[in-house]
Amino acid sequence: MYDQAAKQALEPISPQYDPWDPIRSKERHGEHRLTSVELTVTNLCNMRCEHCAVGESLTLTEGPRIPLAVILKRLDEVEELETISITGGEPSYHEQTVRDYIVPILKYARQRGVRSQINSNVTLDLSRYEQMAPYLDVMHISFNYLNADDFYQVGFVNSARKVGKETAVKMYDRMVDNTVALAKGGMFVSAESMINYRTHEKLTAIHRLIEEMGCRRHEVHPMYPSAFASKLPVLTLEQTRAAIHGLLDGRSRDLWMLFGTLPFYACSSLEADLKLVKRLREEPNVTVRNDPDGRNRLNVNLFTGDVYVTDFSDVPSLGNVHTDRLDEVYARWKAHPLGVTVDCYCPAARCCGPNLLVADMYYKQTDFTSRQAVV
Ligand code: SF4
Repeated sequence: MYDQAAKQALEPISPQYDPWDPIRSKERHGEHRLTSVELTVTNLCNMRCEHCAVGESLTLTEGPRIPLAVILKRLDEVEELETISITGGEPSYHEQTVRDYIVPILKYARQRGVRSQINSNVTLDLSRYEQMAPYLDVMHISFNYLNADDFYQVGFVNSARKVGKETAVKMYDRMVDNTVALAKGGMFVSAESMINYRTHEKLTAIHRLIEEMGCRRHEVHPMYPSAFASKLPVLTLEQTRAAIHGLLDGRSRDLWMLFGTLPFYACSSLEADLKLVKRLREEPNVTVRNDPDGRNRLNVNLFTGDVYVTDFSDVPSLGNVHTDRLDEVYARWKAHPLGVTVDCYCPAARCCGPNLLVADMYYKQTDFTSRQAVV
């Protein structure tokens, strides 16, 4: 078992306690606050998935990172910090990054009582992930497959050099073995699946595999056309609704399901949307997270120091950690005309509105600030 002792004082992450949900600070303060920081620690990755949300930023080499002390100082200045997410690329691509940045940042978070997540494909050596285990709250992986063939078809589409099937099969097997080992050791592994043109009819089978691997949560998001995914076929809202109903029908009631970035709201004029919103509320062990992007979170690039509202939207950098405190950058976002367009809130529905990608894809003509929840 990984060292669980340090975790004992902390509230367990659960359907009742999801510190990444911006609704918590909104309810507490009556306004959104900066409570979450995402750190992009690498642009390197051993995969090139067809849906990659940061695909265009992936590189083959990269220069030095900003010194850790500068990053920790900027984090220290965020008074209400509750969560840190570490992302890439594949954050563990180089073991040195794990040792020199990831583990120290996780230790910092643990000492401060800030909850942590890392987004990883867990296809590399198990030892890299084991180093993080004592300090990490959530290991977030992507899982959209029924077998190695699915993985091969999705995972290397955008690679500059052809990746052989045998290599892909080995990586798939290692990913599954690592997930099982980490979950067995006590790590909270949350596996995310996308609802997209490949997965929408097999989500329940994917869900069963995620449960079999020992994951503690299945996270489900529709795929939106950003970065690499912008070239892929888009599902209709009807297909997306059907996929969610199918998954709710076939899922295991024992596994926490977290839905995020859903394009269905309690203010909809469509009966089908309202029915789904109500069902999601009533299902046991199911939560719908409001999207942190554009609400309570900023993303920091550890190479340039640039600070973004999200790691994948087209909003340009709003500041830089070399010159700005993160709460100053956040104040700029709150005054930004784009942020204002989706800044709605219906307390009874516990909804903070759509994120920019969702609004842009399905609701270009809709003024959410003039709508109200009806259920
Ligand atoms: S907060 Fe916005 S999106 Fe959510 S129900 Fe209310 S008006 Fe609709």
